[in-house]
Parts: sequence; structure tokens; C-alpha cells
Amino acid sequence: MINVSKPYLPPIDEYNKYLQRIWENNWITNHGPLVTELERKLEDYLEVKHVHFISNCTTGLQIAINAAEVSDEVITSAFSHVATINALLWTNCTPVFVDIDPKSLCIDTSAIEAAITDKTTAILVTHVYGNPCDVKRIEEIAGTYNLKVIYDGAHAFGVKIDGRSVFNYGDVTAVSFHATKLYHSVEGGAIITNDDHLAQKCRLMSNFGISQNTPEMLGINGKNTEFHAAMGLCNLPKVPDFIAKQRLLSEAYKKQLSRFGLRYQEIAANIDYNYSYFPVIFPSEAALLSVKEVLEENAIYPRRYFYPSYNDLPYYKSAYCPVSEDISKRVLCLPLYYELSVDEVKLIAGIIVSKTNALKRVRSYSISSI
Ligand SMILES: *Cc1c(COP(=O)(O)O)cnc(C)c1O
Repeated sequence: MINVSKPYLPPIDEYNKYLQRIWENNWITNHGPLVTELERKLEDYLEVKHVHFISNCTTGLQIAINAAEVSDEVITSAFSHVATINALLWTNCTPVFVDIDPKSLCIDTSAIEAAITDKTTAILVTHVYGNPCDVKRIEEIAGTYNLKVIYDGAHAFGVKIDGRSVFNYGDVTAVSFHATKLYHSVEGGAIITNDDHLAQKCRLMSNFGISQNTPEMLGINGKNTEFHAAMGLCNLPKVPDFIAKQRLLSEAYKKQLSRFGLRYQEIAANIDYNYSYFPVIFPSEAALLSVKEVLEENAIYPRRYFYPSYNDLPYYKSAYCPVSEDISKRVLCLPLYYELSVDEVKLIAGIIVSKTNALKRVRSYSISSI
């Protein structure tokens, strides 16, 4: 069986060394020494000012929204994990959907200004599959209309723009270290910002708003444990290997799948990409479904991600987003993870190629027989 992703588990001896330290410290949660060590190492690795390790990205988004005093209408896109939209709804904000750019799959910045009203307080958008949004244009718009900018950077660990971490943009970014992401700490995430005041506020808010045993502001529990930090510390040195391997596998897919009319997300030349996902865009939903079916018959499980487009949730319906709806019907993430082999990629691509050829034969047969 091949799943869309497979969490990397470090050699158990490596994890045991950290467990040993947890037992020696006799400290298991509430911002212990391993959490602190992980935060410092992440700050160095990412070259950002403040990394605050938290329980998960979703809570991180909610804390960031409250810390940045975002309320009312927030510009976002419907082509993301439902957690992005849920974080806004959970904090009583109103998501205002702007469609995506069909090439980058991130928010279409040319459509943002038309969606801004006097109730808009922020732009909260996702670096989709790790491909950065047009951060410079978003910064300009935010400057003109005095809006906060929060990024959902769940997919963007290790991504750089002009050689600098993508997490340097916006007021604050929430990142996910969930088991299915490129870099994981089982469950977990981080709030990242270069703003000292915001960093301090996010820290307090994720600890019930308590400072020196006294509640100072409204908070929640967003803390993470020494055990999760231990997994994060084990996996961090491997990130360059994860990226290099997933790059190799992505290139192997592209080589095998060339000439088949599939389209890919376009990533600009100034981006150091992290190869966290391998999304392919089929010419039609029918083509996607038939390929998905034949892969599943072979115990290969790709994922429709993101599907559906979230402008039409059962609990929140909003504007029509034609590009987001169209892409979400046609995009499929193929298996991609560190321990996948090039031979497995060839196998998966081979199944897709033969199915696509068979579909083409059926189609030309039916056309020529009319
Ligand atoms: C995975 C994901 C999240 C949620 O992350 P958790 O750490 O599981 O809360 C949020 N946004 C996006 C874009 C994601 O892919």
C-alpha cells in the first residue's frame, strides 16, 4: 500500500536520547528545556526572530488572529485546508473569499482590492502547497488599506523567497508540524513573527493569557510538550534531506508524466521550493476520477487536496470562486514522502500513463465512430 504521505520516524535510538533528557530534567510540558531548544534551533534554521512552538497550526492561527486584533471581515481564499477558514469563523471573523490565480494556486492579488470594505481588517492567506503568495503585492495592499497580514504557512517550512525564509513576510505566520507535513513533531506547529510585541502577546495567549501566575489577557491553551519537541529536534537536521529527496521524486514524476497534458502549479524562479507536495492538475474531473480509481485498485492512495473549494461549506456559504472550484475538482496530490522510492514513482506514473492512454483510445474510438 502506498499512501499520499508517510510520516518519517527517526531511528528509535535518536528519540531515546531525548527521552533520557526528559527523564533527567523531570519536566514534561509547560515550556520546558527541549521546547526552548527547539525554538532556538528553528529560529536559527529559518533565520527569523521569534518562533513559538505550539500545539498545532489551527490553534496558532486563532492565537495570531486574536493577538493581531483582527476582527470583522478578513480577505482569504477558498482553496486551502478547511482549518484556515475554520480559524476565522472560530474567532468570529467573516471570511471574504477572493479567487485564486490559476497558475500559482495562491490568492489572486489583482482581485483583493475589489473585496476590501470599511470592515476589512486583515488578509489571511495560505502559501498553497508551499508556493508563496505574491507577498510583495499583499504587503503593498495591506499598507495602502492599513490591514494586518497573517499567513497560513502550514505547507511552507523551508521555503525561501530570494534566499530568505517566506516566514519573514506578513505580521505573523502560523506553521504546521503535523505528521503529514514535510517536517513534523507528530502534532505541533509554530507561530512565527519578527514583531517583538506580537511575539510576546502570542506567547501569553497560548498559555491561558497568564503572566507570572496572573491572567493578563484572554488566552487559550496552545502549549506543546517536551515529547513533541523531542520529535521536532530529531527531525530538524533531516529537513535538507527531506527536501532533496522529495525534489528528486518530483522530478522523476515530471519526467515520467511528460507528454500527458497534465498541468502543474507554477513556481517562480526566485523561490527555493520545499517539494512538500506533488499536485497534478488533470484536464477534467472525469480524468482525475478514473486515474484515482485505477490507482486505488493498485493500493495507491493519492489525495484530492484541496477538495472541495471551501466557499461552499455546510456551515458557511459565500461568494462563487470559479477558479478555486474548477481547480479543486481537477487537482490530485500524488504520493510524495521521504521514504518513497524512484521505482515506486515510476510504478505510479506508469499506471497513470497507461490509464490516460486507454482513455485517449476510448475517446478517439468514440469520435471516429460517430
Ligand atoms: C495541515 C494544515 C493546517 C492545519 O494544521 P494543524 O497543525 O493540523 O492544525 C492548516 N492549514 C493548512 C493549509 C494545512 O495544510
